[in-house]
Amino acid sequence: MTQTSHKILLLPGDGIGPEGMAEVSKLANWLSAHHYASFELETDLVGGAAIDAHGVPVTDETIAKAKAADAVMLGAVGGPKWDRVDYAIRPEAGLLKLRKELDLFANLRPALVFDALIEASTLKPEIVRGLDILIVRELTGGVYFGEPRGIEILPNGEKRGFNTQTYTTSEIRRVAEVAFDLAGKRSKKVTSCEKANVMESGKLWREVVTELHAEKYPGIALSHMYADNCAMQLLRNPQQFDVIVTDNLFGDILSDEASMLTGSLGMLPSASLGAVDATTGKRYAMYEPVHGSAPDIAGQGKANPLATILSFAMCLRYSLNRGDLADAIEQAAQNVLNSGLRTPDIMAEHCTQISTADMGDALIRALETSLFLSMRATGASS
Ligand code: NAD
Repeated sequence: MTQTSHKILLLPGDGIGPEGMAEVSKLANWLSAHHYASFELETDLVGGAAIDAHGVPVTDETIAKAKAADAVMLGAVGGPKWDRVDYAIRPEAGLLKLRKELDLFANLRPALVFDALIEASTLKPEIVRGLDILIVRELTGGVYFGEPRGIEILPNGEKRGFNTQTYTTSEIRRVAEVAFDLAGKRSKKVTSCEKANVMESGKLWREVVTELHAEKYPGIALSHMYADNCAMQLLRNPQQFDVIVTDNLFGDILSDEASMLTGSLGMLPSASLGAVDATTGKRYAMYEPVHGSAPDIAGQGKANPLATILSFAMCLRYSLNRGDLADAIEQAAQNVLNSGLRTPDIMAEHCTQISTADMGDALIRALETSLFLSMRATGASS
C-alpha cells in the first residue's frame, strides 16, 4: 500500500535546538524506513542561525516553505551570541514572525505527569499522579497585541505605560472551538478562564464561550473559572481539570504553572495551530518544545530530546492524523523512563545516565517493541 508522504519543515534553530531535532529526524527516518509512515523532511534556518547566515531571524523563503509544508517542527532559538542584536531582529522575532504569518492562534500545552518522574514534581505524588491536562491558550490577540500601547510622558513629567486588552467575538470563538473539539477526543470537559468579574473583555469571553457551547457542543461539560482561582486550583487539585481554555496573558501564566506540575522542562512539548482551511481542510501548525536553547549545556550531549520528540508526537496526532503513532511514541517514552534510562536533567537514584543521542536510540528501540507487539496483537505486518 502506498503511504501519503508528509512534508515536514524542520527548523532546528540554536543551542540545543539542533540536538533535539537530530533525534526527531532519526525517529522520522526510522518510521519511514520501516514503512510505518512516509516523511519528506526539509531543514532550514531560524533564530540566531538565520541571523548569522542572512541577517534576519527568518527569511521570507523560509516562511513560504513553512506554509507549503504539512507541519513545521521548531527546535529553540536564542543565545548569548545574539543578546545584543537589535530588538526587531533578535532570534525570538523569527519565532513571532512565523506564528504571525501562519496565524497560529491556538497554543496547546499538555501537562502530563509520567509515573517514573513523579518525584520530580514539587507537588505531592498523590496530587499529581496520572495528571493529564491540556491548556489551550489564545496566542495572537489580547493585551500582548492590543492597541493603543506605549509609554507616554504626562504633563507632570511622570511616565505612564499602557497596554490594551482586546478580544473580538471571532477571536474568542475560534480558540474556544479548538478547545471544545479537543475535549471531545479526551474526557469531554472544558474549563474556560477569564476575569469576567473585573474586565469587559472577560465578560465578552464568557458570553461567547457560553453561546458557542450551547450552539455546537452540548455533549461537553463546560465550566467557567476566574483566572486567579484557576491558578490556585492548579496547585490545590489539578486533577479536576481536563482542557483549560484561556486568553493570551492568563494562558502564558497558567500554562507555565501547569507545566511545572510535571517538574521537568526537558519533557514538555507544545503545538500552535491555525484555522482549518474550509476548501483544502489543511491547517498551518508548528510544534516545538517549551524549553529554550539552553546555552549552558549546548553541544555537550546533555540535552533531553524527549520534549522535541513528544512535540513530534503531537504533530503526528494533530497535523498528520496519525494518533496511532503518537500514542505509540508517548508509550515508548514512558517505557524508556520506566527502564531507568535518564538524561542528566531527570537523573535519579538507581537510574542510568545517558546522552541525548542514546535517549533517541532508546526511544526507537522501545517504539520498535511496542509497535511489533501491537501489530502481532492485531495480526498485521509492517
Ligand atoms: P532554557 O529553557 O533554555 O533553559 C533553562 C534551564 O533548563 C537551563 O539550565 C537548561 O540547561 C535547562 N534545560 C532546558 N531545556 C533542557 C533540555 N531539553 N534538557 C536538559 N536541560 C534543559 O531557558 P533560558 O536559559 O532562560 O534561555 C536560554 C535561551 O533560550 C535564551 O536566549 C532565551 O531567549 C531562549 N529561549 C527560547 C525559547 C524558544 O525558542 N521557544 C524559549 C525560552 C527561551
